[in-house]
Amino acid sequence: MAMTLLKLRGVCREYLSGGSMLSVLKDIDLTITPGEMIAIIGPSGSGKSTLMNIIGCLDRPSRGSYQVAGQETGNLEPDELAYLRREHFGFIFQRYHLIGSLTSLDNVEIPAIYAGVGKGSRRTRAALLLERLGMGDRLGHTPGQLSGGQQQRVSIARALMNGGDVILADEPSGALDRASGEEVMKILKELHQQGHTIILVTHDSQIAGNAERIIELSDGRIVADRRSGKEAEPPQRTSKSPAAGGLLRAHRDRFFEALRMALLAMASHRLRTLLTMLGIIIGIASVVSVVALGEGSQQQILKNISSMGTNTISIYPGKDYGDMRSGKVRTLTPGDAEALSRQPYVDAVTPVVTSSMTLRFRNISVSGQINGVGQHFFRVRGVEAAEGRFFDGAGVHSRAQEVVIDQNTRNSLFGSAENVLGEVILLGSVPCRVIGVSKKQEGSFGDSDNLSLWVPYTTVMGRMIGQYYLRTITVRVADGIPSAVAETAIIKLLTDRHGIKDFFTSNLDAVRQTIEKTTATMTMLISSIALISLIVGGIGVMNIMLVSVTERTQEIGVRMAVGARHSDIMQQFLIEAVLVCLIGGLLGVGLALGAGVAVSFSGSDFSMIYSTTAIVSAFLCSTVIGVLFGFLPARNAARLDPVVALARE
Ligand code: ADP
Ligand code: MG
Repeated sequence: MAMTLLKLRGVCREYLSGGSMLSVLKDIDLTITPGEMIAIIGPSGSGKSTLMNIIGCLDRPSRGSYQVAGQETGNLEPDELAYLRREHFGFIFQRYHLIGSLTSLDNVEIPAIYAGVGKGSRRTRAALLLERLGMGDRLGHTPGQLSGGQQQRVSIARALMNGGDVILADEPSGALDRASGEEVMKILKELHQQGHTIILVTHDSQIAGNAERIIELSDGRIVADRRSGKEAEPPQRTSKSPAAGGLLRAHRDRFFEALRMALLAMASHRLRTLLTMLGIIIGIASVVSVVALGEGSQQQILKNISSMGTNTISIYPGKDYGDMRSGKVRTLTPGDAEALSRQPYVDAVTPVVTSSMTLRFRNISVSGQINGVGQHFFRVRGVEAAEGRFFDGAGVHSRAQEVVIDQNTRNSLFGSAENVLGEVILLGSVPCRVIGVSKKQEGSFGDSDNLSLWVPYTTVMGRMIGQYYLRTITVRVADGIPSAVAETAIIKLLTDRHGIKDFFTSNLDAVRQTIEKTTATMTMLISSIALISLIVGGIGVMNIMLVSVTERTQEIGVRMAVGARHSDIMQQFLIEAVLVCLIGGLLGVGLALGAGVAVSFSGSDFSMIYSTTAIVSAFLCSTVIGVLFGFLPARNAARLDPVVALARE
């Protein structure tokens, strides 16, 4: 008595269709021993394919028991069923079901990839099988380049790849011409002789005559089970499936298969992929460049501020900037400056009075800004001399008629003259001797075309405008003293001196902090808008991935039939979504960097500052979007019922 390979007991399969239960298989009892060759015949719609799908573990019975090599299948997980399909069964379909984008060799290899066979032995075996089936010169051809008979031979090779103990062939010659059909039957008979169990569905009684056992189905029941000739001889299988390799390597191989399929899928729809990416590209490019712009402008503003001397506090008359009555406040005097200069927290003080005047030298007359300042002004503001010197305490004390001019004034009055020191110019009607020229200040605010000149404040007050009060006092705070502390002390001192607080202070530190906060807020704001475009891009990716799953439903069914796990299918589509997003992110970062190069070539001294954090998080972000928006389509793909997926045209 031969051992039992497959055993069905009381198997029923019912479909719910149109609200009523349709009973397709009714109480099937069937025992199949190893090495049998069985033909299942019966009219169309009698349940032959349904029975084959149940035998091949692609489908489950609604009721009844099905055992494969003694193992009950009823309570197996989907992945355990996938294992049975990989290890025991090889499917041959009427319409071949090869993956169109892969070569013969690649198609044949797939079951072994999911089984975890190493690349070397995989390739060798696939090539060997194809050669044995007379396809040795077609290894690199894709299905589209092969005839129907040749495609069916590739699919037979695929069925044998993992051993193919049981070959399930559902009308294998149904789509072939007579000659090719006979060829396929000959191959199946040879396989039978080599010890494979063959189960064949056909409606052609002549083909069925090849089998030694013929089972006839009618309306979901077995109505005949005839044996012609001898009992199957005990199997003497020669072609054993190659051994599976290490677990880690198997995982890696499956990952690379998924990666390759994702790349192939992307490459076969280049324009669509690119358009899908566009959303991600724009999103990432805008996030990265907005952050870089914000950082760049902040750095520039801060540089300007520090060029004015950071640790300074300025005191102005009035309540605040724009106080209409501040012009009438006349309490800010050189005496205040004097008192401030004696404070321990003060490094240097300069009073400032300003006035606009006509400057004359020989026949040239221009308008300029006269700044009456103390000898410490240059130290407070960090102004340096390019030529000559600055006036000193004695000059201030004696109301010296000495002037320091800036580069603009030098150019306007003297053109390109070699030496201007010692020349006398008229400020209004007061003649002053040029004793120094200041260096152009790096990137300061409005380093415009204004002409600025510096004269001792005593000279301006006493000799030019006859005014005893000041416009501004600027204090340089001693090193190591927090400017907030100094500011409080200054306010207290001057309030005591004036009796009331009729002045206000401005602290560059505070200004800097405000600017930092403002640019950070702006960057946040624009980034969040860009983030929205990223989300929109992600939805685009999801949409295309859903289309992609629908388009490739049949491929998914084939992969499941040859033993792919849920995770294999999931992985393939998730990788595709992540790849689309990652490549989109890469192009987006490239675009943003390109914008930076364009800005730097545009001649402005402004530059975008790219932080690695922004770039790295852009990549992380696109990966997360890929996973997030790719998950749903990938899960849809993995959850497909293999039978339904295979049936999809
Ligand atoms: P055969 O292969 O013998 O031609 P099938 O096994 O394909 O027949 O189908 C048998 C019956 O089951 C048919 O009447 C068919 O309409 C029905 N059937 C098959 N699959 C489904 C399904 N997924 N849902 C509902 N009815 C189905
Ligand atoms: Mg059928």
